[in-house]
Amino acid sequence: MKKLKLIFVLPALAFLACSEDPVSDQIETENEPQTQTKNLNNANTEVAFPDEVGAKTEIYYTGLKLPVESVNGQYVYQGDIIIPKSKATKSPVKLVYEKGETPQNKSVGRTSAYWKDNTVYYDIDGSLPNKDRVYDAISHWEANTNLEFVKRSGQSNYIYFTPGSGCSSYVGMIGGKQNITLASGCTTGSTIHEIGHAVGLWHEQSRVDRDNHIKIHWDNIQTGRDYNFETYASAGYDGEEFTTSLDFNSIMMYSPYSFSKNGEPTITRRDGSLYSVQRSELSNGDIQGANAMYGGSGGGTSPNYVNGEEYTIAGLTVLRYNDKWYYYTRWGWRQVLLKDGTWYWA
Ligand SMILES: [Zn+2]
Repeated sequence: MKKLKLIFVLPALAFLACSEDPVSDQIETENEPQTQTKNLNNANTEVAFPDEVGAKTEIYYTGLKLPVESVNGQYVYQGDIIIPKSKATKSPVKLVYEKGETPQNKSVGRTSAYWKDNTVYYDIDGSLPNKDRVYDAISHWEANTNLEFVKRSGQSNYIYFTPGSGCSSYVGMIGGKQNITLASGCTTGSTIHEIGHAVGLWHEQSRVDRDNHIKIHWDNIQTGRDYNFETYASAGYDGEEFTTSLDFNSIMMYSPYSFSKNGEPTITRRDGSLYSVQRSELSNGDIQGANAMYGGSGGGTSPNYVNGEEYTIAGLTVLRYNDKWYYYTRWGWRQVLLKDGTWYWA
């Protein structure tokens, strides 16, 4: 068994945006003495349990079939996303109804996903080191989006920033107390990233059209981590008709060296060249996406959704395209309509 350890080296300049990102990460590989410790530039990838690889399993969540890792009693998706066990199912549940049909089992597999009135409640574990990471990340979100973060005073739905073995978060408001874990190596930038998940953002490189923009180098991915790179686009859909470009500058984008086993890139541009990622600030695309979800009116019904982006709305992960909503089924993309909090086939 190979055991991998991510060691974060955090120079004081890590928070500055520049092309020569001073953040350097090292992957130390045990039981493989012939493998040198690699010094990887830009290995900006958040991981919930950096020291453990759990068993791979497949679950259904928000209408998506997700390959997840079962580790420490939790479902982990793409490294740092925690899937709530109570809302995941082993087989598909009905989330889209025929016209005129009466919805049932609304609580199964669903999440309301949105923070009401653009307000995110939070609390911070007293034992969390360097709480300024949280305050700085919150200030950044508030300065750039319509979201407001309010210290919890008895509200039942809230984010709880707490120490953990890595950096992790749930996607969207899942109901009740939801942890964002921050190991001591998780920077302010990683905290901005994890808050991005908590307000409803998925990873940029899992966009359905990502294969138009990037190339995955499967041979360089660590054993047992390859599922982190799958999307439902890999289920056969080529995504060609979606033209909005992938945002390499997104704070939700994996680095080219994510989960590399040999110091070689796992993700490049389609032409094989490297790109740089940043963990300094929300990109313009991130801000556009967040403000589409959380518009001035409180979110959820805003007409400003970005075409080509995925959103989790009323328990379903859907794609915005041509100002309409699409849901990916095994028969391909099908248009869906949202009515009174329930999705129907168009
Ligand atoms: Zn993430």
